[in-house]
Amino acid sequence: MDIAINTGNSKYHVDKNGYYGRFGGAYIPEMLYPNVEELQTQYFQILSDPSFQQEFDALLRNYVGRPSPLYLAQRLSEKYQANIYLKREDLNHTGAHKINNTIGQILLAKRLGKTRIIAETGAGQHGVATATVCALMNMECVVYMGSIDIERQAPNVARMKMLGATVVPATSGSQTLKDATNEAIRDWINNPIDTHYILGTASGPHPYPDMVARFQSVISEEIRKQLKEQTGSELPDYLIACIGGGSNAAGTFFHYLDEPSVKIVAVEAGGKGVHSGFSAATTQLGHLGIIHGAKTLLMQTSDGQIIEPHSISAGLDYPGIGPMHAHLYETGRGQFLSATDDEALAAAYELSKLEGIIPAMESAHALAKLKDLPLQKSDNVVLCLSGRGDKDLNTYISHMTK
Ligand SMILES: *Cc1c(COP(=O)(O)O)cnc(C)c1O
Repeated sequence: MDIAINTGNSKYHVDKNGYYGRFGGAYIPEMLYPNVEELQTQYFQILSDPSFQQEFDALLRNYVGRPSPLYLAQRLSEKYQANIYLKREDLNHTGAHKINNTIGQILLAKRLGKTRIIAETGAGQHGVATATVCALMNMECVVYMGSIDIERQAPNVARMKMLGATVVPATSGSQTLKDATNEAIRDWINNPIDTHYILGTASGPHPYPDMVARFQSVISEEIRKQLKEQTGSELPDYLIACIGGGSNAAGTFFHYLDEPSVKIVAVEAGGKGVHSGFSAATTQLGHLGIIHGAKTLLMQTSDGQIIEPHSISAGLDYPGIGPMHAHLYETGRGQFLSATDDEALAAAYELSKLEGIIPAMESAHALAKLKDLPLQKSDNVVLCLSGRGDKDLNTYISHMTK
């Protein structure tokens, strides 16, 4: 297990002050210092402990079902004239990559002596993954969720409740993910001693982006091994992942960031079109700002008000991007593309028909860009299929006749 690998010399990993280039840091209210400082001083030491790694490993194997397969998608490869491998995070317990991070953080919370867990959620995927590990570890679980999202995502709300979590509606602002995150932070300020905040993506104040990336880095650790077995080389020509806050992308890229021959492609949500006013294409539209404790690229007005994002996929519907990715964008290490709602829908139908796999709406954004890359027949392409499409069936069905 490589979650505590020393990345000190890399210019793409976090530096000792919690920055990726000019992005990152911990811009938090003073009331939150003790909580965040506790994490900053302890997380790396805890992750480095062999007994922690053993416990994390065993749960990923026996509870989550890892390693997830690396599948050479024959008919998709035929269509795009390259060797396309899908990293099957959709086959994990609870249906997406999110569980890798919640397993890691609940083990960390136990070692910090915490007894209560809080989380934010948008579509409910991270909420479900958090409620799941809280049931597993017998911890109290409170999930903040925008009241509009509670209505839109009823099945996931029911799942969280069945798993024993309390779901608290966030009624401020746009009543969606960003407001739920604000509520979770407020709760944490009021409960600094017994509570750990399980943040669901590679954003937030340091050390969250690095910590979440490390828990998700099991994805690229497995890809290296599996690709070597299947092709003789650990290095693909392309790595592709969709990006909301950036956790599945961070996990997919982590062990390849310092391999310059591997092209890194991140796909944002273009919504109804990047310049339509209904989009979440942060690198295209964003400017330097601070959101939820991190200095990063952020969609905002000229006087710094956050612009409401739009995407057909709730998991990509976020106005910011994790600081690691802002840095990959700015340095040119990663290529950032966007896929519109319609392109993602078409890609989801295509994968279902060609491979018998119904992808999550988020993952479909990554699939949608295969058609736009200058692929060669000999190229090995690894695409992170971050989740399965069960949660999106209503969306798929309602667009089917188009
Ligand atoms: C939440 C989610 C995402 C987006 O989150 P990242 O942190 O950017 O990975 C992508 N795919 C699926 C299936 C999700 O549930």
